[in-house]
Amino acid sequence: MSEAQDYQRTRPISEILMRLLSFVRPHRRRMGGVVILMFITSIASLIAPTLVRQAIDRGLEQRDQDALMMFAFAFLAVKIIEVVGLRFQMFNMIWIGQHAIMKVRENLFFKYLDLHMGYYDHNRVGDMMARITEDSNSLQNFITWGVINTISNTFTLIGIVGLMLFYNWSLALLTFTILPAMIGLTLWWRKRSEVRYRAVREAVGQVSATLQESLTGMRIVQAFVREYRERERFSGVATTELTASLRSDQLASIYMPGIDIISQVGVAIVLGVGGFRVINGDMSAGTLVAFLLYLEMFFNPIRDLAMRLDQFQEASAAGDRILNVLDTESDIQDVPDARDLPVLTGTVEMRDVSFKYIIPENEAKTGKDDAHVLHEINLKVEPGQMVALVGHTGAGKSTLVRLLGRFYEPQAGTILFDGHDICRATLKSLREQMAWVPQDTGLFATTVKENLQYGRPDATDAQIEAAARETGAHEFIAALPKGYETDVEEGGSRLSAGQRQLISFTRALLADPAIIVLDEATSSVDTVTELQMQAALGKLLEGRTSFVIAHRLSTITRADQVVVMDHGRIIEHGTHEELIAQGGHYYDLYTTQLQGGE
Ligand code: ADP
Repeated sequence: MSEAQDYQRTRPISEILMRLLSFVRPHRRRMGGVVILMFITSIASLIAPTLVRQAIDRGLEQRDQDALMMFAFAFLAVKIIEVVGLRFQMFNMIWIGQHAIMKVRENLFFKYLDLHMGYYDHNRVGDMMARITEDSNSLQNFITWGVINTISNTFTLIGIVGLMLFYNWSLALLTFTILPAMIGLTLWWRKRSEVRYRAVREAVGQVSATLQESLTGMRIVQAFVREYRERERFSGVATTELTASLRSDQLASIYMPGIDIISQVGVAIVLGVGGFRVINGDMSAGTLVAFLLYLEMFFNPIRDLAMRLDQFQEASAAGDRILNVLDTESDIQDVPDARDLPVLTGTVEMRDVSFKYIIPENEAKTGKDDAHVLHEINLKVEPGQMVALVGHTGAGKSTLVRLLGRFYEPQAGTILFDGHDICRATLKSLREQMAWVPQDTGLFATTVKENLQYGRPDATDAQIEAAARETGAHEFIAALPKGYETDVEEGGSRLSAGQRQLISFTRALLADPAIIVLDEATSSVDTVTELQMQAALGKLLEGRTSFVIAHRLSTITRADQVVVMDHGRIIEHGTHEELIAQGGHYYDLYTTQLQGGE
């Protein structure tokens, strides 16, 4: 399930409304127009039965044809105003809703772009997407339909009650005796349906979770021949959803007819008691008809308001969750007096750097408070040097390089690039001088060219090709069906792991950074490609300071410094030869893993 179903709001409703109002505020003139239209259409709808009353009492009763014609035309005119007005009102509300929600979506996405990596460690992509899709939709529905309809329904309802009391207060009061039954039934329905509706939502969540699991893991499912089990599982949750939906509909099939019958009781009361008064001459026939028409109009707003309550609850929860995102501050920001880094030569120094990941309170496991991942790291790298980081999984290699890119900030110690503390530099100037080559290549589903340009959008075709020639990627790219314009996804099956790596290398080379961070792919490539990769790697790292999370001996041996890490500490440090001569951890690693791996 994507998240807790019973969402607990963290803000008062008034705050949510006020904050979200800011998204509608730019459209306040249009909104004002809609409110005026709303009053006009509501008044038109309230006038119509009165005109029918006049047509009957003055036209029919007194056999006055002119009056009859006049009221018939007036009725038509009022109805046209109502219908056209309603149309305009709806169109404008949809317009406002769409515009406001687009801004909400933009704000959310821009916020996501700004948020620090730690946020992404603790939030699931599905949940983050739900803010921009589902929650934004609930909000849009509410803005478009909820707000104005609630105002206009309330207004119309008050108008109807007032007019009924005005025309015949005793009959009106008699008619209103059905209200307690109606309200009672509605309350009962709301209470019961809430429970059942929640069951439906849970079941729907189960279905999509199951679906997602099976689809993303289809390779494993088929490889282990577990289609049968997946079929059972899916049928199971689908049946649960079916039952839950039917049970929820069952309630509606009691409520809806119930309300209809109660309202017909009202009609019968008006017809019987009112008709009796007409016969006795206490009331005009026109008033009776007007009463019946008002009664008809009376139930719609009530039903509508009962349903809006759900919409309102949903929208306030959605609004709250959206505000939670918008109010999140990035942990990593430029300090007030941040300076741009100058063009770097590539000296990197880590002084007594200690770091632990900050785990949100609700996820923290007790008793494991001081979970430092890096302990007092000291390291000095000269411009153009290559550092190979080696050590077991979990030793802290990736964490160390993430600190260099300031994706996280150390709790203690400083990191200096050319003598400048990176925590006091602007993020932009820092990251623009670094390039990352991730293990999984991190290519986007677009053309080879756009992928290559990612780190340097203004690179010309000639520059792109020159870089590709240097890494040796040009040959195979040129041989692709559309050359540089080939989509990497559509070619996804055609591009080998090695080729994707070469594209990733070329992208980094084109960005021309002073510092490179490379997480070497662990998957083995064939020997020819291996040589090609090593040559490309040589080109890429030439003259730049580089940090390589290394898995291959051939990479490690060319490094100027080999840093051996264990449990967040640097336990050995030197060149390959020096470390072999030492006969320590690295020597063990070399004899057991690295040597055999080549
Ligand atoms: P390596 O790259 O050497 O395999 P890592 O730097 O990935 O090691 O991990 C070091 C330690 O930090 C591990 O114990 C790991 O569980 C923990 N760790 C890594 N990433 C995170 C994270 N995003 N949040 C919390 N703990 C993490």
